[in-house]
Amino acid sequence: MNSIVIVGGGHAAAQLCAGLAEAGQAARVHLVCEEACEPYHRPPLSKTFLKSADQATQPHRPPNWFQDSGIHLHLGDPVVAIDRAAHTVSLRSGAVLPWEKLVLATGSRARRLPALGDAPLDNVITLRAADEAQRLRERLAQAGHVTVLGGGFIGLEVACTALALGKKVRVIEVAPRLLGRAVSPALSKHVLQTHRAAGMEIDLGAAVGGFELEDGRLAALEVNGQRQPVDLLLLGIGGVPETALAQASGLECADGIVVDAHMQTSDPAVLAVGDCTRFPDRRAGRALRLESVQNANDQARTAVATLTGAAREHDAIAWFWSDQGSLRLQMAGLMPAEGTPGLASVRRPGPNDSAFSLLHYVDGKLVCVESVNAPVDHMMSRKLLEAGRNPPPEQAADPAVPLKSLLA
Ligand SMILES: Cc1cc2nc3c(=O)[nH]c(=O)nc-3n(C[C@H](O)[C@H](O)[C@H](O)COP(=O)(O)OP(=O)(O)OC[C@H]3O[C@@H](n4cnc5c(N)ncnc54)[C@H](O)[C@@H]3O)c2cc1C
Repeated sequence: MNSIVIVGGGHAAAQLCAGLAEAGQAARVHLVCEEACEPYHRPPLSKTFLKSADQATQPHRPPNWFQDSGIHLHLGDPVVAIDRAAHTVSLRSGAVLPWEKLVLATGSRARRLPALGDAPLDNVITLRAADEAQRLRERLAQAGHVTVLGGGFIGLEVACTALALGKKVRVIEVAPRLLGRAVSPALSKHVLQTHRAAGMEIDLGAAVGGFELEDGRLAALEVNGQRQPVDLLLLGIGGVPETALAQASGLECADGIVVDAHMQTSDPAVLAVGDCTRFPDRRAGRALRLESVQNANDQARTAVATLTGAAREHDAIAWFWSDQGSLRLQMAGLMPAEGTPGLASVRRPGPNDSAFSLLHYVDGKLVCVESVNAPVDHMMSRKLLEAGRNPPPEQAADPAVPLKSLLA
């Protein structure tokens, strides 16, 4: 029993399979996923997938790649229990799989609102998986008005897609600014102005309550004391790491499965990767939880190194993108909290009026670059951050100085 069992079939799991196959280990691998389909890309689910019924999900690998590589697939059959002493997992079907190494890649699930109860509501949708995206697409086709609760990445992407489909769209955010947990105030402001100019209604600092449930639907909610009828509501209020299995088996969890720099959990025979982890980020100097494709892929690469006897410490630059209407947002590095001592920022104009980058420094050290419609600057920023370069702010802000030249 020298098998590696991977629990989950998302981005991190697909990358793990690719890495293990490349290392000649595919025959040891069992991929167990709750979803009944092979791994697919999630980012299009809030973007292109919603636009037309012709759009299919985009698989990570060509058809039959997993089977042809020798990987054992167990789809539509979630793991319901881990026995760490016996080194086995139990599946819902009753099957029991032995493992030498176990990797948890269970991702995150959409946060729900206790006020809406546990029963599903016909016109309230959360978006994490393809079946929810399919439902959202069907409901969008019938809806005239779309309410989005939460001005985070997924909420705003869906809001932009709905706007492009000709729907009336209202975004309700309880925080004082959009994308408040992830981007700078200056970028939040630009996003707000752009979306409002495109016709999106946006409430910031909103007091939300008074949920009126009627016949299995959300009929209305109260925003700032005003009753708002609801046609279709997307609940985009963030994600919760999927840690139930890890917790039940006694692994250390703290808003995420706690892993070390080799992606090992508190039990070295069990690894965890992707959205479900809390990991030590060397650059930030603290433990973090990230929800991004980059993080899932890079952590999976670190886990492959651990599993194949080539262990190295995880060290990756965080980067993320979000497509919102006319805005292509690309972030490299982590945005320090507002009010961080020594935080200073410069604006670098882009190749046209709708493009620019914001470079953020802490005590003269470049820590984060936010780019809007400036993909070349984003790519170069990642390289600057990777190389640990701290270009002088006045040069970085000068569009006549290519960022590439500052790498030298
Ligand atoms: C709509 C949407 C848009 C996004 N857009 C972007 C974007 O533009 N850019 C970006 O960087 N990131 C984006 N993300 C985030 C990105 O998709 C995630 O960070 C990434 O999918 C995380 O990969 P993962 O493998 O950790 O988890 P996931 O991809 O979520 O996969 C987890 C898998 O584990 C399975 N699972 C859970 N529990 C069990 C169990 N007990 N047994 C078996 N299987 C189980 C789940 O069913 C799921 O298939 C988006 C996410 C969503 C939902």
